[in-house]
Amino acid sequence: MSNIKFFSEEQIPLEMHKVRIVQKLELPTVERRFEAITEAGNNTFLLKNRDIFLDMLTDSGVNAMSDRQQAAMLIADDSYAGSETFIRLESKLREIFGMKFFLPTHQGRACENIISQVLVKPGSIVPMNYHFTTTKSHINLNGGRVEEIINDTGLEIKSNNPFKGNMDIDKLENLIKKHGSDKIAFVRMEAGTNLIGGQPFSLENLSEVRKICDKYGILLVLDASLLSDNLYFIKTREEKFKSMSIREITRKLASLCDVIYFSGRKLGCARGGGICTKNEDVFIKMRELVPLYEGFLTYGGMSVREMEALTIGLEETMDENIINQGPQFISFMVNELDKKGVPVVTPAGGLGCHINAMEFVDHIPQQEYPAGALAVALYIASGVRGMERGTLSEQRNPDGSEVFSNMELLRLAMPRRVFTLSQVKYAVDRILWLYENRKLIEGLKFIDEPKILRFFFGRLEPVSNWQENLVKKFKEDFGDSL
Ligand SMILES: *Cc1c(COP(=O)(O)O)cnc(C)c1O
Repeated sequence: MSNIKFFSEEQIPLEMHKVRIVQKLELPTVERRFEAITEAGNNTFLLKNRDIFLDMLTDSGVNAMSDRQQAAMLIADDSYAGSETFIRLESKLREIFGMKFFLPTHQGRACENIISQVLVKPGSIVPMNYHFTTTKSHINLNGGRVEEIINDTGLEIKSNNPFKGNMDIDKLENLIKKHGSDKIAFVRMEAGTNLIGGQPFSLENLSEVRKICDKYGILLVLDASLLSDNLYFIKTREEKFKSMSIREITRKLASLCDVIYFSGRKLGCARGGGICTKNEDVFIKMRELVPLYEGFLTYGGMSVREMEALTIGLEETMDENIINQGPQFISFMVNELDKKGVPVVTPAGGLGCHINAMEFVDHIPQQEYPAGALAVALYIASGVRGMERGTLSEQRNPDGSEVFSNMELLRLAMPRRVFTLSQVKYAVDRILWLYENRKLIEGLKFIDEPKILRFFFGRLEPVSNWQENLVKKFKEDFGDSL
């Protein structure tokens, strides 16, 4: 996606790829959508693909692969140990991150399991810019706790800060001084902070975090799952690094970290994951756990086909004209909604468009899961599947009370190169309709609530018959249209 000017002066992102394999979509009727979400316990995770028009649940494992990725899968070298495929992947990671050691895993959270088991002890603290669901669970499981030290604008819905994912350096140092560096298992920076709108950190900020880590002798761990968006934002928003190539920015960024782990379902548009490090001591400890949880050291739970696709995908991440598609489509969607007054997280980040449910449905109290209710309402109105990122995604306190999330977001992920601009416009159109009719939306309550990661398979019901009313209004306004 290049900066191509239109004669008409319309500002739209122009795809720099062509589509050669397509998949047919169905848009079920509004009655069927209501039925389907009821069957799914009002949890968008439990919907079936056949009932979904645009799947904006996640960018995980659903990004479009390139022709070169598909082609590479054919030359995969299958063997339990020592395959050429693994060597190619390992060499590519060494090349782009400049780190000596690599351990393969089956996906991102598996890296978190291994890292937490090795580095987190009962009573440990892990400071981070912001947590991710699985990260926090693994740290807690090993007896540690998370401290979020995001900068003050990080949790503001509307901001002009281009780097809302930055860590607050003073708070980091104060935290270390307060608890003592021995208590700190490691400092974790998350590229493209997932839960607060895909917001990036700056390279400058990472350098400052590194300085504090050096001063107190603490390891710096990077969660690079959403690195590609973050790289694009460093390149386009951070004046100091504008002249550097994506490859150079990646090298510089990696040189500041001790450990880098990632989900290959996102980074590299494939599957799998892995941990890179330059610290031999940590590497040896982590290595023991790979055969136990993942598989032998030269596949770690990945198929050779996945590894080949990942290798090419990582190389393609170094191409600005490839990694800019996601952020530019997201920016288009965010700006269209923002112009019309729909509350969205700004500036546009990576990963997806994030609607602020706290404001969109400000009449729904947090204990009735406003973002979850909005996700359900949008599905009924459009067949678009989004994901709740708010209180529902939190875990209750040990005493059973709710942990109210800082933000109540409906995330509409933008899988890379999957949707066309007219499909994005359709989603925008239905969101605008829903915004007009927002007073019809009411809350949800649990009827079946799992203790851990409840958002994945918990079941809920509406607090009233508001969904019937929404369907009725839809039919009034759209008639026979789906
Ligand atoms: C998705 C994600 C993970 C977990 O990766 P999986 O491959 O889904 O297990 C970890 N961290 C971040 C920031 C993520 O976005």
